[in-house]
Amino acid sequence: MGPPGGKGWGPPGGGKGWGPPPGPGMGGPPGGKGWGPPPGPGMEGGKGDGKGGWGAPPPAIAQVEEPVRREWGEEHVRVIHGQLNIELSMQDPPLDDDALMNFCDWLDGYLPQVVANYPHLRKTGANVDLSDNVIGPQGLDRLFEELRKHQVPCVTMKCFRNVVNDAVIDTFVEYLHTQPENLPITGIHISHNRISDKGALRFLRASCTCGHYPTKVTKKPLWLRLENNEIDKPEEVIAQCGHEEYAVCTMKDGLCTQLDCDHVNVTVQVPHFYSQNNNQEKKPKGDKGKGKGKGDFGDGKGKGKGEGKGGKKGKKGVNRNVAKTIDLEEPEPALEDYPMEEHCPFKLDWSGRDSNKHALPMLIDIKEDSVVAKASIKPGENFLVNLNGMDVSMLEREQVEDALEERPVRMKVGKLASDNFN
Ligand SMILES: [Zn+2]
Repeated sequence: MGPPGGKGWGPPGGGKGWGPPPGPGMGGPPGGKGWGPPPGPGMEGGKGDGKGGWGAPPPAIAQVEEPVRREWGEEHVRVIHGQLNIELSMQDPPLDDDALMNFCDWLDGYLPQVVANYPHLRKTGANVDLSDNVIGPQGLDRLFEELRKHQVPCVTMKCFRNVVNDAVIDTFVEYLHTQPENLPITGIHISHNRISDKGALRFLRASCTCGHYPTKVTKKPLWLRLENNEIDKPEEVIAQCGHEEYAVCTMKDGLCTQLDCDHVNVTVQVPHFYSQNNNQEKKPKGDKGKGKGKGDFGDGKGKGKGEGKGGKKGKKGVNRNVAKTIDLEEPEPALEDYPMEEHCPFKLDWSGRDSNKHALPMLIDIKEDSVVAKASIKPGENFLVNLNGMDVSMLEREQVEDALEERPVRMKVGKLASDNFN
């Protein structure tokens, strides 16, 4: 273990227990950084209330009625396979920044005892899942701050389907540059948020200049999911990265910054980066899609999924043509024999996951005359590879089943269960 990088991630202080409580110089001076609302339209910067300086910014979506009482406990913070797992996805009601900060206050008191029991957590780090909530930049920043304070590095961050915008980029840029040398974050999943072209470019730049990727030990690039944000011209963002000579890989032949990219020896991978649904409205959580009908996905077919974009470079044989795109529109009338809330005209066989946690589920038992059958998809031959722009291999079964309950839903189905689809 190398010497401390000087940024507060060092080895436990004097070699005793988990080191001294963070003091000056550790993780940033209290209050110094301030994670109040970023200066933005209509918000005076210095408006703090007496409490803790974090005058509540209006939650992004939820209407303020009465603060929801939430209980935090072991189910949200567990040690699994030697790593800390913070599990806050799909909270009901969805977590907003205030709620996440409230969690962080609680975590601040709880984490010391966890780290005391499992001091190795400082060497194995934390997996954080905040997906499917209404978390914005302040909440996310605070959580990183909290982990840093307790010297537990973040190794994966899932924050997809939230309301994070460019204000969070500073947080990530800082994290990427100051994270511990020997335990860099390997996966950041923030698809379905509100990051712009500019934010994406800054993010990519930081990934490529921070010096941590490919990782020292495993030679892995940073896995960064930025699809379905508000990136208007993803091809220009990639082109700019090319100008700056960064090895950014979109995992599509001919569409990475390096034309001869092997999709392996790169600095950062941004699968699905060209899939940006700018017109897609956020679906409020809890409203399970019923009756919402069209419109949510705006341009339905308007925007191809990116392959066409790179035309100027002359697109090469991209393997994706083996996958078919199928849109499930309105729910089928109740299909009692089928799962997914009885509206899905097929079932999924998940047995591949027994041996490989990223295996794709196979479509079986396809209802005759359904849109799926009409697309000549035969049961037992095709895998579900992509759902609404998300790579199914990276999703949990539950997430897939939840997503399939909503309408409309766009899926890609193909015969190869390989990462040709990524
Ligand atoms: Zn590539």
